[in-house]
Amino acid sequence: MKLLPFLAALVGAVCCRDTFHGDQVLRIKASNEEQINTLQFLETLEHLKLDFWLHPSNPEVPVDVHVPFPSLQAVKVYLESQDIDYSIMIEDLQVMLDEEKAGMEFNRKLERSTSHFNLATYHTLDAIYTELDALASEYPNLVSKLQIGTSYEGRPLYVLKFSTGGTNRPAVWLDCGIHSREWVTQATGLWTAHKLVSDYGKDSSITSLLNNLDIFLLIVTNPDGYAFTHTSNRLWRKTRSKIAGSRCIGVDPNRNWNAGFGGPGASKDPCSDSYHGPQAESEVEVKSVVNFIKEHGNIKAFISIHSYSQLLMFPYGYKCTNAAHYSELNAVAKSAASALTSLYGTAYKVGPICTVIYQASGGSIDWSYDYGIRYSFAFELRDTGRNGFLLPANQIIPTAEETWLGLKKIFQHVQDNPY
Ligand SMILES: [Zn+2]
Repeated sequence: MKLLPFLAALVGAVCCRDTFHGDQVLRIKASNEEQINTLQFLETLEHLKLDFWLHPSNPEVPVDVHVPFPSLQAVKVYLESQDIDYSIMIEDLQVMLDEEKAGMEFNRKLERSTSHFNLATYHTLDAIYTELDALASEYPNLVSKLQIGTSYEGRPLYVLKFSTGGTNRPAVWLDCGIHSREWVTQATGLWTAHKLVSDYGKDSSITSLLNNLDIFLLIVTNPDGYAFTHTSNRLWRKTRSKIAGSRCIGVDPNRNWNAGFGGPGASKDPCSDSYHGPQAESEVEVKSVVNFIKEHGNIKAFISIHSYSQLLMFPYGYKCTNAAHYSELNAVAKSAASALTSLYGTAYKVGPICTVIYQASGGSIDWSYDYGIRYSFAFELRDTGRNGFLLPANQIIPTAEETWLGLKKIFQHVQDNPY
């Protein structure tokens, strides 16, 4: 019984803090199925407060886990006792977060003194939203800002529409940041918006693209989560909705789509980072996109941008059978990935979600594909784990540049293959 106050103190110490002093990210390499099972067991031990950046699925894919300082010793001893190999990817998470914050503050001052929006830094939600207005007012004939809904906490969901005219032209959909901590994705979305407006009329492929297709770009799909990553917890992934009957907050918005909802690779535990929610489309951020896509009726490609792992994936995730258009999707993904790699040599893996990463149900591109949008893809941007979600800001522009080459290949294929 003497242990109880000690345990309570231990749990209390981890439960409510928003700093990460001494926390580490471990890369664990399971060598067989048995070790995967052991890691999956570790994942169920709630009191350790482990945050799996990459979940245990099969021995081919490494497992990255953020371990709070108070749990570190126990986890390492346990892994060693089970003969499971691991290495330390991030020595002290808080040190990296402090560096990231210092970089943002430096840039904020620079932006204030130069009145120039810097695409090579991370921005707050307010700064991003101000920039959307700036783009729409600077290029009124090319960009408009639409509000497609309101988040759980009341923030607008803004989509940029890039269009050179016509009514309800065939269109491509692009969303970033459904998982709020994947900061390089929102930053890549912003860079892409600037690229489209600055190169229209100059770059023949962009010009031809926008003369034939409209592009809808949702840069901050999960604005409540994104605001929270700036104010309270940099590593927040989910929405911020309250769950009836639970002390835990938020739903994994990429387990909440009506595609194999509640199946493997999603959690029914509201405290889990991959909690699927009380029912499909319970999250207004998801429902708003679904409504928009259905109302538009002429969306030909649906692309979701995540980080990290350097993957270009297509359906399915909720099941491990091939999509009807497997050959075509695989060929398009391969050509997009090779265009992406051509710029800086960044290596990408390509394939269905279930094969390339793990079975995961309720994901956006499975929904869009089953809904009838053939060209449904998900990117996992840089890196492969060295920095994970904390990709240094000096990699934003190279990441966005290479990703753009991949996106362009997909867009061109959509343009050349109407259906
Ligand atoms: Zn993600």
